[in-house]
Amino acid sequence: MYGELDGTGFEALDASFNDCFIGHARVERLWTGARWSEGTAWFPAGRYLVWSDIPNDRLMRWDETDGSVSVFRAPSNNTNGNTVDAQGRLISCEHLTRRVTRTEHDGRITVLADAHDGKRLNSPNDVIVKSDGSIWFTDPSYGILMDYEGDRADLEQDGCHVYRIDPSDGTVTAVAKDFVKPNGLAFSGDETTLFVSDTGVTHDPDGPAHIRALSVNNDGTSLGKSRVFADCTEGVFDGFRLDRQGRIWSSAADGIHCLSPQGQLIGKIHIPEMVGNLCFGGPKLNRLFIAGTSSLYSVFLNVNGAK
Ligand code: MG
Repeated sequence: MYGELDGTGFEALDASFNDCFIGHARVERLWTGARWSEGTAWFPAGRYLVWSDIPNDRLMRWDETDGSVSVFRAPSNNTNGNTVDAQGRLISCEHLTRRVTRTEHDGRITVLADAHDGKRLNSPNDVIVKSDGSIWFTDPSYGILMDYEGDRADLEQDGCHVYRIDPSDGTVTAVAKDFVKPNGLAFSGDETTLFVSDTGVTHDPDGPAHIRALSVNNDGTSLGKSRVFADCTEGVFDGFRLDRQGRIWSSAADGIHCLSPQGQLIGKIHIPEMVGNLCFGGPKLNRLFIAGTSSLYSVFLNVNGAK
Protein backbone atom coordinates (compact mmCIF):
# COMPACT_ATOMS: atom_id res chain seq x y z
CA MET A 1 0.00 0.00 0.00
CA TYR A 2 2.86 2.39 0.75
CA GLY A 3 4.84 1.78 -2.42
CA GLU A 4 5.47 4.50 -4.93
CA LEU A 5 2.44 4.85 -7.14
CA ASP A 6 3.06 5.60 -10.82
CA GLY A 7 2.12 9.09 -11.86
CA THR A 8 2.06 10.52 -8.34
CA GLY A 9 4.36 12.84 -6.45
CA PHE A 10 4.83 16.36 -5.15
CA GLU A 11 5.87 19.20 -7.44
CA ALA A 12 6.98 22.46 -5.81
CA LEU A 13 6.46 25.50 -8.03
CA ASP A 14 7.39 27.92 -5.25
CA ALA A 15 9.71 27.44 -2.29
CA SER A 16 6.81 28.00 0.11
CA PHE A 17 5.33 24.66 -0.95
CA ASN A 18 8.29 22.75 0.49
CA ASP A 19 6.94 23.20 4.01
CA CYS A 20 3.56 21.75 3.03
CA PHE A 21 4.53 18.17 2.31
CA ILE A 22 6.55 15.36 3.83
CA GLY A 23 9.29 14.20 1.50
CA HIS A 24 8.84 10.49 2.10
CA ALA A 25 5.04 10.53 2.32
CA ARG A 26 3.47 8.75 -0.62
CA VAL A 27 0.15 8.97 -2.37
CA GLU A 28 -1.78 5.77 -1.62
CA ARG A 29 -4.56 4.35 -3.73
CA LEU A 30 -7.05 3.21 -1.09
CA TRP A 31 -9.66 1.78 -3.43
CA THR A 32 -10.59 1.66 -7.10
CA GLY A 33 -13.75 0.76 -9.02
CA ALA A 34 -15.73 4.00 -9.33
CA ARG A 35 -16.91 5.70 -12.53
CA TRP A 36 -16.74 9.30 -11.31
CA SER A 37 -15.74 10.03 -7.75
CA GLU A 38 -16.85 13.15 -5.92
CA GLY A 39 -18.17 14.42 -2.62
CA THR A 40 -15.53 13.44 -0.05
CA ALA A 41 -16.68 14.04 3.54
CA TRP A 42 -14.87 13.04 6.74
CA PHE A 43 -16.78 11.81 9.82
CA PRO A 44 -14.42 12.27 12.79
CA ALA A 45 -16.58 10.47 15.36
CA GLY A 46 -17.01 7.39 13.17
CA ARG A 47 -13.48 7.52 11.75
CA TYR A 48 -14.71 7.01 8.21
CA LEU A 49 -14.87 8.84 4.91
CA VAL A 50 -17.97 8.98 2.75
CA TRP A 51 -17.73 9.80 -0.91
CA SER A 52 -19.87 9.64 -4.06
CA ASP A 53 -19.64 7.44 -7.14
CA ILE A 54 -22.17 9.46 -9.11
CA PRO A 55 -22.78 7.38 -12.29
CA ASN A 56 -22.92 4.17 -10.23
CA ASP A 57 -25.61 5.77 -8.08
CA ARG A 58 -23.97 5.03 -4.75
CA LEU A 59 -22.28 6.53 -1.75
CA MET A 60 -19.17 4.70 -0.60
CA ARG A 61 -17.51 4.51 2.82
CA TRP A 62 -13.84 3.98 3.62
CA ASP A 63 -13.22 2.88 7.22
CA GLU A 64 -10.07 4.23 8.88
CA THR A 65 -10.03 1.46 11.49
CA ASP A 66 -9.37 -1.38 9.05
CA GLY A 67 -9.13 0.19 5.59
CA SER A 68 -12.24 -1.58 4.35
CA VAL A 69 -14.55 -0.06 1.77
CA SER A 70 -18.28 -0.69 1.62
CA VAL A 71 -21.39 0.79 0.08
CA PHE A 72 -22.80 3.44 2.40
CA ARG A 73 -26.01 4.07 0.41
CA ALA A 74 -27.37 2.73 -2.89
CA PRO A 75 -29.25 4.01 -4.71
CA SER A 76 -28.00 7.45 -3.79
CA ASN A 77 -30.11 9.50 -6.22
CA ASN A 78 -26.81 10.21 -7.99
CA THR A 79 -25.49 12.12 -4.98
CA ASN A 80 -22.60 14.46 -5.79
CA GLY A 81 -21.22 16.79 -3.10
CA ASN A 82 -21.33 15.95 0.61
CA THR A 83 -20.38 17.62 3.84
CA VAL A 84 -20.82 17.12 7.58
CA ASP A 85 -22.57 19.74 9.71
CA ALA A 86 -21.63 20.85 13.22
CA GLN A 87 -23.90 18.16 14.68
CA GLY A 88 -22.12 15.45 12.68
CA ARG A 89 -24.94 14.90 10.17
CA LEU A 90 -24.41 14.17 6.49
CA ILE A 91 -25.55 16.91 4.09
CA SER A 92 -25.78 15.79 0.44
CA CYS A 93 -26.43 17.19 -3.03
CA GLU A 94 -28.58 14.82 -5.09
CA HIS A 95 -28.60 15.12 -8.87
CA LEU A 96 -31.48 12.74 -9.67
CA THR A 97 -33.93 14.27 -7.23
CA ARG A 98 -32.45 17.78 -7.71
CA ARG A 99 -32.31 18.50 -4.01
CA VAL A 100 -30.15 19.03 -0.93
CA THR A 101 -30.80 16.64 1.94
CA ARG A 102 -29.70 15.97 5.49
CA THR A 103 -29.40 12.47 6.93
CA GLU A 104 -30.58 12.65 10.54
CA HIS A 105 -28.98 10.73 13.41
CA ASP A 106 -31.76 8.14 13.20
CA GLY A 107 -31.25 7.67 9.45
CA ARG A 108 -34.28 9.60 8.24
CA ILE A 109 -33.67 11.91 5.33
CA THR A 110 -34.82 15.51 5.50
CA VAL A 111 -35.16 17.57 2.31
CA LEU A 112 -33.55 20.97 2.90
CA ALA A 113 -33.98 22.46 -0.58
CA ASP A 114 -35.49 21.27 -3.85
CA ALA A 115 -36.83 24.49 -5.37
CA HIS A 116 -36.30 28.22 -5.63
CA ASP A 117 -38.96 30.68 -6.71
CA GLY A 118 -41.39 27.80 -7.11
CA LYS A 119 -39.22 26.07 -9.72
CA ARG A 120 -37.08 22.96 -9.36
CA LEU A 121 -33.36 23.35 -8.77
CA ASN A 122 -31.01 22.22 -11.57
CA SER A 123 -28.78 19.63 -9.88
CA PRO A 124 -27.09 20.70 -6.64
CA ASN A 125 -23.37 20.01 -6.89
CA ASP A 126 -21.46 20.93 -3.75
CA VAL A 127 -22.37 22.12 -0.27
CA ILE A 128 -20.86 23.66 2.86
CA VAL A 129 -22.15 24.69 6.28
CA LYS A 130 -21.35 28.07 7.86
CA SER A 131 -20.79 28.40 11.61
CA ASP A 132 -24.25 29.99 11.99
CA GLY A 133 -25.83 26.78 10.66
CA SER A 134 -26.71 28.19 7.24
CA ILE A 135 -26.09 25.85 4.31
CA TRP A 136 -24.58 27.17 1.07
CA PHE A 137 -24.64 25.18 -2.15
CA THR A 138 -24.02 25.49 -5.88
CA ASP A 139 -26.53 24.50 -8.54
CA PRO A 140 -24.98 24.02 -11.99
CA SER A 141 -26.80 21.97 -14.64
CA TYR A 142 -24.43 18.97 -14.95
CA GLY A 143 -26.94 16.49 -13.50
CA ILE A 144 -29.69 17.37 -16.01
CA LEU A 145 -27.58 17.82 -19.15
CA MET A 146 -27.54 14.05 -19.79
CA ASP A 147 -28.71 10.76 -18.36
CA TYR A 148 -25.29 9.69 -17.08
CA GLU A 149 -25.33 11.41 -13.68
CA GLY A 150 -29.06 12.02 -13.26
CA ASP A 151 -32.08 12.45 -15.55
CA ARG A 152 -31.84 14.66 -18.61
CA ALA A 153 -34.23 17.58 -18.20
CA ASP A 154 -34.74 21.23 -19.08
CA LEU A 155 -33.55 24.02 -16.83
CA GLU A 156 -36.37 25.55 -14.81
CA GLN A 157 -34.23 28.18 -13.10
CA ASP A 158 -33.03 31.22 -15.07
CA GLY A 159 -29.40 30.14 -14.66
CA CYS A 160 -26.93 28.31 -12.47
CA HIS A 161 -26.70 30.03 -9.12
CA VAL A 162 -25.23 29.83 -5.64
CA TYR A 163 -27.83 29.47 -2.89
CA ARG A 164 -28.10 29.85 0.87
CA ILE A 165 -30.52 27.94 3.09
CA ASP A 166 -31.51 29.92 6.17
CA PRO A 167 -31.00 27.93 9.39
CA SER A 168 -34.07 29.34 11.15
CA ASP A 169 -36.82 29.11 8.53
CA GLY A 170 -35.30 27.08 5.69
CA THR A 171 -35.71 29.85 3.11
CA VAL A 172 -33.65 29.25 -0.02
CA THR A 173 -32.10 32.47 -1.35
CA ALA A 174 -29.95 32.95 -4.45
CA VAL A 175 -26.82 34.72 -3.19
CA ALA A 176 -24.86 34.84 -6.47
CA LYS A 177 -26.44 34.81 -9.93
CA ASP A 178 -23.52 35.72 -12.18
CA PHE A 179 -21.85 32.30 -12.44
CA VAL A 180 -21.82 30.08 -15.52
CA LYS A 181 -21.37 26.72 -13.74
CA PRO A 182 -20.74 27.30 -10.01
CA ASN A 183 -19.15 24.20 -8.53
CA GLY A 184 -16.92 23.79 -5.45
CA LEU A 185 -17.17 26.26 -2.58
CA ALA A 186 -15.55 27.03 0.79
CA PHE A 187 -15.39 29.86 3.31
CA SER A 188 -12.19 31.49 4.50
CA GLY A 189 -11.34 30.68 8.13
CA ASP A 190 -12.95 33.92 9.37
CA GLU A 191 -15.94 33.45 7.02
CA THR A 192 -15.51 36.93 5.55
CA THR A 193 -14.81 35.48 2.08
CA LEU A 194 -16.65 32.81 0.13
CA PHE A 195 -14.60 31.04 -2.54
CA VAL A 196 -16.57 29.48 -5.41
CA SER A 197 -15.18 27.74 -8.47
CA ASP A 198 -16.75 28.24 -11.89
CA THR A 199 -16.29 25.34 -14.32
CA GLY A 200 -18.14 26.96 -17.22
CA VAL A 201 -15.34 26.03 -19.63
CA THR A 202 -16.61 22.42 -19.66
CA HIS A 203 -19.41 23.43 -22.04
CA ASP A 204 -18.00 26.63 -23.55
CA PRO A 205 -14.35 26.92 -24.62
CA ASP A 206 -14.49 30.61 -23.74
CA GLY A 207 -16.09 29.92 -20.37
CA PRO A 208 -14.46 30.37 -16.97
CA ALA A 209 -12.09 27.91 -15.30
CA HIS A 210 -11.34 29.72 -12.10
CA ILE A 211 -12.05 30.25 -8.42
CA ARG A 212 -13.65 33.53 -7.44
CA ALA A 213 -13.40 35.23 -4.03
CA LEU A 214 -16.62 36.92 -2.93
CA SER A 215 -16.73 39.11 0.16
CA VAL A 216 -19.39 38.20 2.70
CA ASN A 217 -21.34 41.27 3.82
CA ASN A 218 -21.54 42.21 7.49
CA ASP A 219 -25.00 40.66 7.71
CA GLY A 220 -23.30 37.29 7.20
CA THR A 221 -26.01 36.24 4.76
CA SER A 222 -25.31 38.10 1.52
CA LEU A 223 -22.35 38.60 -0.78
CA GLY A 224 -20.61 41.76 -1.94
CA LYS A 225 -17.58 42.36 -4.10
CA SER A 226 -16.25 39.55 -6.25
CA ARG A 227 -12.90 38.98 -7.93
CA VAL A 228 -11.13 36.17 -9.76
CA PHE A 229 -8.87 34.53 -7.18
CA ALA A 230 -7.02 32.04 -9.42
CA ASP A 231 -7.30 30.65 -12.95
CA CYS A 232 -6.86 26.92 -13.41
CA THR A 233 -3.88 25.93 -15.53
CA GLU A 234 -4.94 22.27 -16.05
CA GLY A 235 -8.62 21.51 -16.60
CA VAL A 236 -10.92 23.00 -13.99
CA PHE A 237 -11.08 23.59 -10.27
CA ASP A 238 -13.95 21.37 -9.13
CA GLY A 239 -14.12 20.77 -5.36
CA PHE A 240 -11.53 22.33 -3.02
CA ARG A 241 -10.72 22.90 0.66
CA LEU A 242 -8.71 25.39 2.74
CA ASP A 243 -5.97 24.60 5.24
CA ARG A 244 -5.41 26.53 8.48
CA GLN A 245 -2.94 28.91 6.83
CA GLY A 246 -5.51 29.96 4.23
CA ARG A 247 -4.03 28.00 1.34
CA ILE A 248 -6.52 26.42 -1.06
CA TRP A 249 -6.06 22.77 -2.06
CA SER A 250 -8.07 22.20 -5.21
CA SER A 251 -8.94 19.43 -7.59
CA ALA A 252 -7.63 19.81 -11.17
CA ALA A 253 -7.10 17.68 -14.26
CA ASP A 254 -3.60 16.56 -13.25
CA GLY A 255 -4.23 16.13 -9.53
CA ILE A 256 -4.23 18.64 -6.69
CA HIS A 257 -3.20 22.29 -7.08
CA CYS A 258 -2.10 24.19 -3.99
CA LEU A 259 -2.81 27.93 -4.12
CA SER A 260 -1.27 30.44 -1.71
CA PRO A 261 -3.63 32.74 0.25
CA GLN A 262 -2.91 35.26 -2.52
CA GLY A 263 -4.00 32.84 -5.24
CA GLN A 264 -0.57 31.85 -6.57
CA LEU A 265 -0.10 28.24 -7.70
CA ILE A 266 2.73 27.12 -5.39
CA GLY A 267 2.69 23.37 -5.88
CA LYS A 268 0.93 20.24 -7.06
CA ILE A 269 0.28 16.70 -5.95
CA HIS A 270 0.21 14.67 -9.14
CA ILE A 271 -2.54 12.06 -9.39
CA PRO A 272 -2.76 9.73 -12.41
CA GLU A 273 -6.38 10.67 -13.19
CA MET A 274 -8.61 13.71 -13.07
CA VAL A 275 -9.66 14.72 -9.56
CA GLY A 276 -13.22 15.78 -8.70
CA ASN A 277 -12.95 16.64 -5.02
CA LEU A 278 -10.93 16.24 -1.84
CA CYS A 279 -11.11 16.82 1.90
CA PHE A 280 -8.89 16.72 4.95
CA GLY A 281 -9.44 13.87 7.38
CA GLY A 282 -7.99 11.79 10.16
CA PRO A 283 -7.89 12.87 13.82
CA LYS A 284 -5.43 15.69 13.04
CA LEU A 285 -6.94 16.67 9.68
CA ASN A 286 -3.49 16.27 8.17
CA ARG A 287 -4.43 13.57 5.69
CA LEU A 288 -5.82 14.57 2.32
CA PHE A 289 -8.47 12.27 0.84
CA ILE A 290 -8.70 12.61 -2.91
CA ALA A 291 -11.61 11.57 -5.13
CA GLY A 292 -9.89 10.69 -8.42
CA THR A 293 -12.01 9.61 -11.35
CA SER A 294 -12.04 5.88 -10.61
CA SER A 295 -10.18 5.72 -7.32
CA LEU A 296 -9.89 7.02 -3.80
CA TYR A 297 -6.41 8.24 -2.87
CA SER A 298 -4.88 9.70 0.26
CA VAL A 299 -1.66 11.34 1.31
CA PHE A 300 -0.39 12.72 4.62
CA LEU A 301 0.66 16.38 4.51
CA ASN A 302 2.53 18.75 6.76
CA VAL A 303 -0.55 20.99 6.95
CA ASN A 304 -3.90 20.67 8.71
CA GLY A 305 -7.30 21.24 7.19
CA ALA A 306 -9.33 24.19 8.36
CA LYS A 307 -11.90 23.19 10.98
MG1 MG B 1 -18.27 19.43 -7.97
